[in-house]
Amino acid sequence: MGVPLRQQIAVGSYLIKQKIKGVKKYPLVLMLEPLFRCNLACAGCGKIAHPEEILDKRLSYEECMQAVDECGAPMVSIPGGEPLLHKEMPQIVEGIIKRKKYVYLCTNALLLKKRIDDYTPSPYLNFSVHLDGMKERHDASVCQEGVFDRAVEAIKLALDKGFRVTVNCTLFQGETPEDVVEFLDYAMDLGVEGATIAPGFSYEHAPKQDVFIKGADTKKLFRGIFELGKKLKRKWRLNHSALYLDFLAGNQDYKCTPWGNPTRNVFGWQKPCYLLADEGYVETFQELLDSTPWEKYGNASNPKCAQCMAHCGYEATAVEDTLRNPWKALVAAVKGPKTTGEMVAEPVPQWIAKEDKKGKKLADIPVTISNK
Ligand code: SF4
Ligand code: SF4
Repeated sequence: MGVPLRQQIAVGSYLIKQKIKGVKKYPLVLMLEPLFRCNLACAGCGKIAHPEEILDKRLSYEECMQAVDECGAPMVSIPGGEPLLHKEMPQIVEGIIKRKKYVYLCTNALLLKKRIDDYTPSPYLNFSVHLDGMKERHDASVCQEGVFDRAVEAIKLALDKGFRVTVNCTLFQGETPEDVVEFLDYAMDLGVEGATIAPGFSYEHAPKQDVFIKGADTKKLFRGIFELGKKLKRKWRLNHSALYLDFLAGNQDYKCTPWGNPTRNVFGWQKPCYLLADEGYVETFQELLDSTPWEKYGNASNPKCAQCMAHCGYEATAVEDTLRNPWKALVAAVKGPKTTGEMVAEPVPQWIAKEDKKGKKLADIPVTISNK
């Protein structure tokens, strides 16, 4: 696994505390989006389609610290937009580190060389660099030539300076297991700590809609990657739990746990997750927990979630399963994801099965929240 032992212990103790306290819904990673503005315009991006006045908005240092304190998650991921465009980002990162939280500062790395001396290496800080594959594929994915070379140069610089670095790879249509294996080999050779790898979410607001991999094709692709990895005896450092990888390979029937990765951005706390932008916002984390109709979401419960296998929804589910079934998790970790045999059945869409008398779909039915 591509996560240092110190961090695994810190996160493990946090999880045990939640269990002892009997907390049912607890956050694992805070997704802190302090701005939507970016210096790229990727085809599969669901974040940059906002009007200029929204792209100009920033969460202040104080708002970011309040979100970190309110939420209490042991890890904070800072996506965007491009966080390095935010003038207060070094202070924000420092403030989170002071609170002994692990920060994943997600960046396309175009500004990393220029801004790197604003940051100090720390066991709590990780630059998570966006790389969607080898040169040709990454440059096509971010719709700009030369970005791959600049990102790799920045990764090498950050590693030389003693920073923790991971790569964050999203897979889109047309990807083959061979492509991904070549990329993971390359990333490991670069010396990064680990790689995050996930299928692209079909953002409604993404500029291009034909780039996303869907349904069983996603699981087939991941099986192909893991099968080839086993054949070639690869030991990639992947930043995921063993059971989440097994889920990606079609072997686990999981329900989404969106409260595991709550999102705070310039609109407020986003219901229900990082990926769905039109479900509403609330002012506090507690309000998010109490007022979100969680049962309306997940790949069987809502058409908007139908194709989703993203780590922000299902990694927390896999972690919860690991706590409940440690032997199963150990077997998955030792043997790797299963790449043969039947896959779990595709989720049955309850929004069709559960139409109400007036013909409304589940997603349209207003939900009453009880404060009991
Ligand atoms: S780098 Fe990230 S935030 Fe920027 S356009 Fe690409 S996907 Fe969107
Ligand atoms: S399945 Fe979960 S993480 Fe995915 S879009 Fe739906 S609520 Fe969000």
